[in-house]
Amino acid sequence: MHRITSKLRAKSPPEALEYTIIRRPRVTRRLHMELDQQGGLVVVAPAHWPRKYIRETLAQNIPRVERFLARAREKQVTPLQYAQGEPHFYLGERYPLAIHHVAGRGTQVAFVDDRIRIDTPKPNPENIQTSLQNWYLNMAGPVFSDRLAVLSRRAPWVNGKAVPLKLRRMKRTWGNCSSKGAIKLNTHLIKAPLEIIDSVIAHELCHLEEMNHGRAFYTLLEKLNPDWRQHRARLRSEGFVYLLT
Ligand SMILES: [Zn+2]
Repeated sequence: MHRITSKLRAKSPPEALEYTIIRRPRVTRRLHMELDQQGGLVVVAPAHWPRKYIRETLAQNIPRVERFLARAREKQVTPLQYAQGEPHFYLGERYPLAIHHVAGRGTQVAFVDDRIRIDTPKPNPENIQTSLQNWYLNMAGPVFSDRLAVLSRRAPWVNGKAVPLKLRRMKRTWGNCSSKGAIKLNTHLIKAPLEIIDSVIAHELCHLEEMNHGRAFYTLLEKLNPDWRQHRARLRSEGFVYLLT
């Protein structure tokens, strides 16, 4: 199970976290966190705290920092309008919508000239949203099964068998796996960079061998994806934007 927010108290390396430090005379006893205009983390620290101490404090509180970032960024973000030119994610990049009002046909969505082109007889936001969701599902299928096949070959416990894959739009998990050995991935992941998709697949593949998040599980994961900590941190702090469409 790969939860979207996790209660796990794990220590990630502080390098995974980017932040700006500011000092205010009235802050004397503890750190507090804010977001800047771009959604970056601002740490307001007591004037006498050395940078090293600030970094250590953050490193010891990674889950709290990540929860703060996820919630604060969610509040800061404006809801999608599904309007002409609005950028939407695909594999970690943003592409503007090019909406064309076309009479008498069903809605078609395709990549054209680095845009997501939507030809539709009903260019209202609800219809655009549904069409995009269907398009994401269609795009996700081949990408996810391709990556699952590639990563399965690096997981000896799969024994070369094809792992059954299901896709579904989910609010609370990026992926999970059943006791029967099928992997389910969140369709929204198709908006994330490929390495993030791979990291979720690697996590679920390890669950085929080790159901719990014990030491044996992380030993497998470390081999399959040595950068899993960094990927998990990114997914926790940036992942919410992929859930919007
Ligand atoms: Zn898990």
